[in-house]
Amino acid sequence: MSVTAVTGSASGIGAAVCEKLRAAGHTVIGIDRHQAEVNADLSSPEGRANAAEQVIKLANGKLDGLVCCAGLGVTAPSSSLVVSVNYFGSTELIELLQPALAKGEQPAITVIGSVAASQQVADPHPIIELMLNNDEPAARALADELGQPQIAYSASKYALTVHCRRLAVKTGSTGVRINLVAPGAIETPLHEASKQDPRFGEAVRNFVAPIGRNGQPSEIADAVSFLQSAQASFVHGSIIYVDGGMDAMMRSGKF
Ligand code: NAD
Repeated sequence: MSVTAVTGSASGIGAAVCEKLRAAGHTVIGIDRHQAEVNADLSSPEGRANAAEQVIKLANGKLDGLVCCAGLGVTAPSSSLVVSVNYFGSTELIELLQPALAKGEQPAITVIGSVAASQQVADPHPIIELMLNNDEPAARALADELGQPQIAYSASKYALTVHCRRLAVKTGSTGVRINLVAPGAIETPLHEASKQDPRFGEAVRNFVAPIGRNGQPSEIADAVSFLQSAQASFVHGSIIYVDGGMDAMMRSGKF
């Protein structure tokens, strides 16, 4: 039976992923700030080390899957927190858990990106290079100086996507597959908070996918469940857009 760790397990997409994977027979180790098998704060190096240590202990040193869902949106308390949780909260945890994953059965990692990442493709913000260079203090400082959480958000998701795709190339021979799911607007507490925000609410409410509705967390969990299964054994370094056609709408000729 697969043992899979899931970050952001207490809410929204992460909670739906846990439910779906449990139904598919996985033993799930949820990681969140509260209400999880592993209660840990992924916004700091100490919190990530603590999370990895607890997961490795619960999994007896051998992990078959990791799904990184924990994240903050544009209503986060600060832009630096967005950078730390969304980018480093996934990339550092992946690094810390790689040895346990390399011992797993058909091991796989799925990371939740976002359609928002493509906002950075044409002209990537300098903060992205700081993240990719693993310089958390400098990336945090620039994010707060900028004071634009929507840029911190799209930049964190773009950097995360680039990092994971590079990792797919670098570590493919270890047998640990890694892929991303890029959701569009999904009805979760994070999305609801964005819709209510006086700065971004109107734009978020008006941004409707071609399919004519927002998605449900279970629709993201279905894609994650596939990527974590043996049916996806040759899918590696890929991005699956689960967005009701948003990416197709924004850049049909660029992919
Ligand atoms: P959510 O707020 O419902 O869930 C996020 C979870 O992450 C929460 O349980 C929260 O406690 C956890 N988390 C936040 N900071 C943490 C920390 N420091 N340490 C540990 N856990 C922490 O949000 P969601 O919409 O389910 O978001 C899940 C992921 O999906 C995020 O990465 C988000 O960026 C991404 N995403 C969401 C949407 C959307 O429309 N909902 C769209 C694109 C991408």
